[in-house]
Amino acid sequence: MKDDICPICGGVKIESTTSFTVDYNTGVVVVRDVPAKACMQCGEEWISDDIASKLEEIVSISKKQNQEIFIAKFNNYSLAS
Ligand SMILES: [Zn+2]
Repeated sequence: MKDDICPICGGVKIESTTSFTVDYNTGVVVVRDVPAKACMQCGEEWISDDIASKLEEIVSISKKQNQEIFIAKFNNYSLAS
């Protein structure tokens, strides 16, 4: 497995956090402190399937707030997985 090697530049991936933004018709949802892997060399980021499905849940919760801009922290949501 070459999981920890960046397929783009061959750099090393490290544990990191990122922000995830969804822009939909009536607003924007920003989720901060999302666990991700990032390439030390080129900065490309990867989010695991697990994290991605939690993000979808957070986004759908956030959309119901009907705010133009909604900022959530990933760790503030403990969702059933
Ligand atoms: Zn890279």
